[in-house]
Amino acid sequence: MEVRTIVEECLELWRDPYPRLARLGEEGERPVGVFCSYTPEEILHAAGLTPVRLMGAVRAITHADAHLQAYCCSLARTDLDMALAGELSFLEGAVFVQTCDTMMRLSDIWRRNTGFSYHGDLVLPIRMGEEVSLPFLIEEVKRFRRGVEGFLGREIGDDALEESIRVYNRNRRLADRLYRLRASRPGAIDGLSATACLVAGFWMRREKHNELLHGLLEDLEGSEPIGGDGKLPLLVSGSVCTTPDLFELLLELGADVVDDDLCCGHRYFDAFVDESAPPEEALAKRMWERVNCPAKHQCIEDRFQRLVRQVGDSGAKGVVFYLQSFCEPHLFDIPYLRQCLQEELEVPSLVLESELQSFSRGQLRTRLQAFIETISGV
Ligand code: SF4
Repeated sequence: MEVRTIVEECLELWRDPYPRLARLGEEGERPVGVFCSYTPEEILHAAGLTPVRLMGAVRAITHADAHLQAYCCSLARTDLDMALAGELSFLEGAVFVQTCDTMMRLSDIWRRNTGFSYHGDLVLPIRMGEEVSLPFLIEEVKRFRRGVEGFLGREIGDDALEESIRVYNRNRRLADRLYRLRASRPGAIDGLSATACLVAGFWMRREKHNELLHGLLEDLEGSEPIGGDGKLPLLVSGSVCTTPDLFELLLELGADVVDDDLCCGHRYFDAFVDESAPPEEALAKRMWERVNCPAKHQCIEDRFQRLVRQVGDSGAKGVVFYLQSFCEPHLFDIPYLRQCLQEELEVPSLVLESELQSFSRGQLRTRLQAFIETISGV
């Protein structure tokens, strides 16, 4: 398939994945919703289930306000709203990784009010990366596996799990190759297209996504650049981008995303699972070692140093922090990160908050345009 056709199909999926998800059952798949990049998707995959990412939707809230306070992020509110409205009935269930307060509350509310047949919880240690937290995490991954086996009424074989680990590791290698290609050949692919091709994998079986990325890379490596070169390079940091609007607007305004620190982007595929270690231990070790989500406590200096490396390596001239309103874990980090970026690198930054139930593309455009003009000295 031609590069532009692949990108267009991925973009369409990113704009609205739900019609496609609703058809997965007809194709013999058993989708399970996941909210978080810490989900051990390999266990679900090995069980014959298809993990699909729930990233909210631009919509008015009709049902969720009766259960979740208005100061919870719109990711949680709009996902719950869709579940309560019966719009996620194609799911067999969902997995809740206990990262922030909102996710912890959402798990219980979801369990009590939605009625899916499967409900999975994974409790992460508060502080990742500490020696004492690894044994706990390994036990938790084992407990999660037993929970999936209990739902299925059968065991998940180690062979199946090891094969799923290989499939997901291949996916991480391909995603990494795509990001490296974008960095080494400016203009080979723009940030919008690269991110769309990564994000599309959240809504398909991982083997299929591997084929897609492999085909895309083969074509890109021998084709004409499809865009991004000559634009103002920017880095985007935050949680998830429910829609491609931010990336589209940046391109329209003469800028391009050259790298990211997003949990639907670079943070998602960071670090590999050791294929030679016992599977649960290896899955836990990757979660424990990978770059942290701000919802897990670790020295903020580590996060800043990583951001510095990413800004330096990508040549980004500015950083856009794109957050869900009321997302405290991300908001707590922002003042320090912004100050350090300005003082140590003289890299300006912009903070944008998104509320999916009152999303305004026009407002987003105005803020981005002003930021780009400031950096470009227009
Ligand atoms: S980390 Fe932030 S965006 Fe993610 S679920 Fe929690 S509050 Fe929402």
